[in-house]
Amino acid sequence: MGAEIVVIGGGVGGTIVANLVAKQTQGRAHVTIVDATGIHVYQPGFLYVAIGLEQPAALQRPESQLLRHDVSLVIDGATRVDAAAHMVLLESGRRLQYDHLVLATGSRTMMGEVPGGLGAYDFYTLAGAKRLFAALEAFNKGTIVIGVAGIPYKCPPAPVEFAFLLDDYLRARGIRDKTEIKLLSPLNRAFTIEATSKLVQPILAERGIELTGFFNVESVDPVAKTVTSLEGETMGYDLLILVPPHRGQQVIESSRLGDERGWVPVDKNTLKHAQLPDIWAIGDTTSIPISKSGSVAHYEATVAAAEIAAEVKGEAPPAHVYDGKVMCFLETGQGKATTIRFDYDHPPVSPSPARRWHWAKALFNKTYWHTVPQGRLP
Ligand SMILES: Cc1cc2nc3c(=O)[nH]c(=O)nc-3n(C[C@H](O)[C@H](O)[C@H](O)COP(=O)(O)OP(=O)(O)OC[C@H]3O[C@@H](n4cnc5c(N)ncnc54)[C@H](O)[C@@H]3O)c2cc1C
Repeated sequence: MGAEIVVIGGGVGGTIVANLVAKQTQGRAHVTIVDATGIHVYQPGFLYVAIGLEQPAALQRPESQLLRHDVSLVIDGATRVDAAAHMVLLESGRRLQYDHLVLATGSRTMMGEVPGGLGAYDFYTLAGAKRLFAALEAFNKGTIVIGVAGIPYKCPPAPVEFAFLLDDYLRARGIRDKTEIKLLSPLNRAFTIEATSKLVQPILAERGIELTGFFNVESVDPVAKTVTSLEGETMGYDLLILVPPHRGQQVIESSRLGDERGWVPVDKNTLKHAQLPDIWAIGDTTSIPISKSGSVAHYEATVAAAEIAAEVKGEAPPAHVYDGKVMCFLETGQGKATTIRFDYDHPPVSPSPARRWHWAKALFNKTYWHTVPQGRLP
């Protein structure tokens, strides 16, 4: 019998790793992927759902359609990993034995951790994006505040990107002159990456989007309609959009595989768990201080898959390790976008916003289903 490989999480990273391990081990391993919903969700599309430019149905596909025929899919929630027994316990009561385990459970959004924040809008979940679009459609004048209620969060440029898309949306509706957009950043610049912040800040100013730095959202008063920062500043709003605090999944916390927020410590090159040699973690679930993004999950998945396949085949570890590569698009509105690329050894670079990057992002969003889950680079 071949090695048993179990992958928990059928998102970007988990799906790629499952498909690649099955392909590269050529029948010498049995790969099982466990996903809580069985539905694969393309999260970057939430931004467009929130402004009515994408339909929710276009962002979801059954996970079974994205897997190779020789990968087994179990639709169930993993509740605990018993690392000593090499066992994954599922909600249904089923148990899965593994030789090699990959944690690819992504992250949870926790708006409830923000005092008074539960009524705030967000574009970090599909339900949140749909609710935000309904609110924007009913919005005719006033101040929209976009804030960040905790670091780290998925896709660091997303709040800036959403501010630009919102500006386009309000202009298209002819109500931009009756509205204000205020973007609150936890840092002294638009977002984490300095070079790209320098590039986008003049464009924010040109579009009349007010940027306030050092505003880490701490609490919301939904009656007074104010948001207060850790730094002690208070700002009024008519419509509040928050990036919710994030943390790792409950299964990570219950299994004591991560830190106090459920992020899993791994070797930043091999993605192997810091203490447990048969466990890998990839994507949002790791504690590596790098963008929580689909591109990182993708690059990491290819590395973890090659390492697992080599172990199954009794070969030496592959020479190629994860080098910290990140590649993201950032919409700057009015039909233009830029990109952000870097790795552990090279600082971020972003070209001047251009139409071709906007179209490249649109093309990537549409072709995602046919390239990324299979581990192909588009
Ligand atoms: C608004 C928005 C915009 C974004 N834009 C970009 C972008 O432009 N570019 C980019 O690269 N990234 C972007 N991202 C980030 C990207 O979507 C995530 O970083 C990426 O999906 C992470 O992949 P993952 O495999 O780690 O986790 P996910 O894709 O989140 O998958 C996790 C999977 O684990 C499953 N799961 C969780 N817990 C359990 C459990 N206990 N048992 C079984 N299954 C479980 C879930 O059902 C899910 O299928 C964006 C995200 C958002 C929200």
